[in-house]
Parts: sequence; C-alpha cells; structure tokens
Amino acid sequence: MLDLHQRQINYIRVSITDKCNLKCIYCQPPKKLRQLERSQILSYEEILHLIQIAVRCGISKVRLTGGDPLVRKDVTKLVEAIARLEGVRDISLTTNGVLLEQMAPDLYKAGLRRINISLDSLNRKKYQDITGHDRLIQVLRGIQKAREIGFFPIKINMVVIRGINEDEVLDLAKLSLNYPFHIRFIEFMPLGNSQLWQERQFFSCQQIKEIITAYRPLIPLATCGDSSLGSENGPAQLFQFEGGAAGKIGFISPMSNHFCSTCNRIRITADGKLRSCLFSSQEIDIKAALRAGGSDDELRQLFIKGIENKPASGPDRSRLSALKCNRFMNSIGG
Ligand code: SAM
Repeated sequence: MLDLHQRQINYIRVSITDKCNLKCIYCQPPKKLRQLERSQILSYEEILHLIQIAVRCGISKVRLTGGDPLVRKDVTKLVEAIARLEGVRDISLTTNGVLLEQMAPDLYKAGLRRINISLDSLNRKKYQDITGHDRLIQVLRGIQKAREIGFFPIKINMVVIRGINEDEVLDLAKLSLNYPFHIRFIEFMPLGNSQLWQERQFFSCQQIKEIITAYRPLIPLATCGDSSLGSENGPAQLFQFEGGAAGKIGFISPMSNHFCSTCNRIRITADGKLRSCLFSSQEIDIKAALRAGGSDDELRQLFIKGIENKPASGPDRSRLSALKCNRFMNSIGG
C-alpha cells in the first residue's frame, strides 16, 4: 500500500530474537544487555499471523533478522512456513554467518535463496575485537558453504568505522573481483552503542568510494532512485569494478545521503512492536493487540496506521548524531 508520502510499502523486516552469538561493539551497549524473556518474544505462530496480515496490507517481501536469527531454535521451520505463505514473493535473512555452515543446507531446503552476511573485518584479531569472539573462520566457512549450495545473491555487509576498520575497505571490495558477492559498505549510524558513535569515527560512503576508485574505477549499475531496481537492491547504490568482476559493490549511506524518499519498509521488533522508521522511536504495540485477542481486521488497521504514519524522513544528520535511540539494534533488527 502507499503511505501518505506516496511510497509503496511492500517490505517487512522481522526481528525474531534479540539474542546474538556475537557482541559487536557498535550494535550493543558495552554493559551486559538485559535480554527479553521468552514470553516477551513473538512466537512463530504470532509472527506468521502478523506477516499474513501485513501481506493483506501490500507487503510481499519479508526479511528475518535479529539479534541473530540463526540462534533461534527451529528457524528453518519458520522460514519454510513464510516461504509457503500466499502473497510472500520474497524471503531473505540477515545473519552474522557464525552458524551458517551447518544451517545453510536446511535453510536452502526450507526455501531461502537470498542471504545477507555481516562481515566487518577479514583480519582474525580485528574481527574478534569488533565482535567479541574469535569466529571469523566459522563465518568464512559459512559464506563458502552458502555459495556452494547456491544462495544468490550473497550480500556481504561491512559497517565502516574510522579508526577501527576503514583500512580494510579495499580488501573487502576486492572480494568482488573473484566472487559473485555483493560487497556492501554501510555508514555507521548512531544507533545501538551511542557511546561509541562520535562524529570523528564517521566514515562516509564518499570516502569509502575514494579508497576503492583509487585502486580501480567503478562503473555505476543502479541507484536507489531507480524504482524498478530499488526493491531488489534496497537502498544500495550498486557499482562494479571497471574491466569486469564476478560480483558487485554497494554503498548504503543512511547518514550522508538519506534514502527516505524511496524507503519501502516497516519493521517488527523482537518484542512485537511495529516500527515504521529505523530512526523514529514511534512504535505500535502490535503484540499487545494480538495477545488481547484483536481481530484480523483490528490488526490490519494497526498496520495501516503504522504505514500511514511512517515519517517522510528521518532526522537530518546533525540531529541524528545527537539522537538517543530508544533501543539497541539487536532488538530492532537493523
Ligand atoms: N545478527 C545479524 C547480523 O549480524 O547481520 C542481524 C542483525 S544486525 C543488527 C543487522 C545489521 O545491522 C548488520 O549488518 C549490522 O552490521 C547493522 N548494524 C548494527 N548496528 C549498526 C550501526 N550502529 N550502524 C550501522 N549498521 C549497524
């Protein structure tokens, strides 16, 4: 359905758990996070029910995220059930890849074809510094397994933070020369660990692009403004190395170049709140309505309200940097 700003809202991201097997410095607070009780998390039946209602409001694309969605028990059953839902045209999943090697075959059998994997460093020590765990080798094996099985496209996401991993931008980009991956660089946002976010640690997509093009020119493939491609590529501006490459390179610049005018998504948080903008703390307690016995029509009205009230745009960068997000990314889902 169209929101009040004439954007076609057709994509939902569902955070199915706030639990994660990594502790990325930018995602979670440095102090131990209080995790949600099991009863606070939506059950699989509830998630399926809500997705069905969302489909009736024009949603056709579903992404599972978290926390890490692969740590939740029986996630493959949920994937299979969503893939079978009438009206769901596309299902995808975002993971850190730690459990991918063992789970990729079952996920593929369940109907998943597209997967995004977060990978912020190719250096084992640095990976451990960023994520709190020595699990780089597992993740690389998971990516390799997903490729062998036939997942396509495999999108590899790197959040770039000055002074932490900007020196690895080119190494990541070069992976696209020989592998059919989309290597996507994401600007660090002041969400999650707001103590870490400081203006001087911000590294823009423009700066990332300069590092890469100093090595070899990039040819533009598509932009987020292209609505025919926008739904496939999301907000990424896509490029390829000149002279030919197996994969692609994408830039996602929520800070330096808002893509709000083409935003097509809403979110359900791990504790069942409908959130129509990553940067807005406005939420609708859809779980409470569901558990209070709300009818499908009542729930549909809540989705409509969420979509209609979707802000035209997030705060501009100057305000964004001062923003105190009411949640951490592990519960919103990124
Ligand atoms: N655990 C999964 C993963 O690692 O991909 C899914 C959840 S994670 C919250 C989803 C995405 O959000 C990841 O690509 C992560 O890098 C990104 N993310 C988290 N905090 C961020 C921040 N402050 N700025 C930019 N991206 C962030």
